[in-house]
Amino acid sequence: MRVNFVDLKAQYNNIKDDILEGITKVIDNTNFILGPQVKEFEEKFAAFSQAKYALGVASGTDAILLSLKSLGIGPGDEVITAANTFIASVLGISYAGAVPVLVDNDPVTYNIDPTKIEAAITSKTKAIMPVHLYGQMADMDAIMEIAKKHNLKVIEDACQAHGSEYKGCRAGSIGDISCFSFYPGKNLGAYGDGGMVVTNDEDLYQKVKVLRDYGQSKKYHHEIKGYNSRLDSIQAAVLLAKLPHLDKWNDDRRVLARLYNELLSDTDIVVPVESEECRHIYHLYVIRTKRRDEMLEFLKSKEIFCGIHYPIPIHLQNAYKEHKKGDLPITEKYAKEILSLPMFPELTEEQVIYIVGNIKEFLSNYDDVGV
Ligand SMILES: *Cc1c(COP(=O)(O)O)cnc(C)c1O
Repeated sequence: MRVNFVDLKAQYNNIKDDILEGITKVIDNTNFILGPQVKEFEEKFAAFSQAKYALGVASGTDAILLSLKSLGIGPGDEVITAANTFIASVLGISYAGAVPVLVDNDPVTYNIDPTKIEAAITSKTKAIMPVHLYGQMADMDAIMEIAKKHNLKVIEDACQAHGSEYKGCRAGSIGDISCFSFYPGKNLGAYGDGGMVVTNDEDLYQKVKVLRDYGQSKKYHHEIKGYNSRLDSIQAAVLLAKLPHLDKWNDDRRVLARLYNELLSDTDIVVPVESEECRHIYHLYVIRTKRRDEMLEFLKSKEIFCGIHYPIPIHLQNAYKEHKKGDLPITEKYAKEILSLPMFPELTEEQVIYIVGNIKEFLSNYDDVGV
């Protein structure tokens, strides 16, 4: 049996007719840029995220850039974010001209550790950007309280968290402004690049609307030097066909995660912990083991394909070498231990049993896999 890390083809096969009908409609009407599909998807995605406004943009990275721009954050400003994240979170901050300040992660949830945020605040800090990593929301009550106390804005990087919840509130509904990605492998993925800015603030909504469309409030009236960053109509049509299934797909991921947890419970492998306040949507199912590299290779030899999210922390990348080793100890330690097992809604119970069976075969050769 071969098990891919994700299987976008399986999903496509289940909803093929709806996808093709949606794409065909766009082509028939040749409304490729900001067509009616974009507006319809924005309204539906805002409702899905329990927020008032949503604006389709070119990518999750651009959603971060435009969110920061709408808040007036730029050169000379600092934005606090999670050290343990995908590089795009931090690139968005750099594109805006601001300085990303990285804070280590909570050892249990892997999200930004709120107890370490205040020490990172300086007179230049303008915002905190928690990342809802792997599909579980960060500790938003603690973060919002710190932001309020220090008069900072909160930007949610919800690029891995479509439909995730914290105390019943969905990702995108709590911060001042929030960012989503529709990169194909995300829980809600387009057939190309795409992203979304979500907010309850009408003023920020109006600003992003102008920013994403060459800075024009009206055709050929350019108030500011804006960007060309829009979700295109074909991608919106694909996303419209997928959105009605997303809650079910997220539930399916949760069932698979519970099965993994149960089957791995008699091993020394560390499984993901779902916080009591959260509805984790398992964009990634990440375990930890001291024998990570050997396990990855072993599973690969059995045609079970895993991933590492992420193998090299941002502050140890050449692109961000102003930081040094040892600065963010938990992120550094975990980067050597984390392994993402196959996780997608169409994964079967039989496949999970097969994967764990192979993990157990691997474990029988070692007595020091714990961390
Ligand atoms: C995917 C992702 C992004 C960037 O999204 P793109 O659409 O690829 O630009 C940003 N932050 C996180 C946490 C992500 O996982």
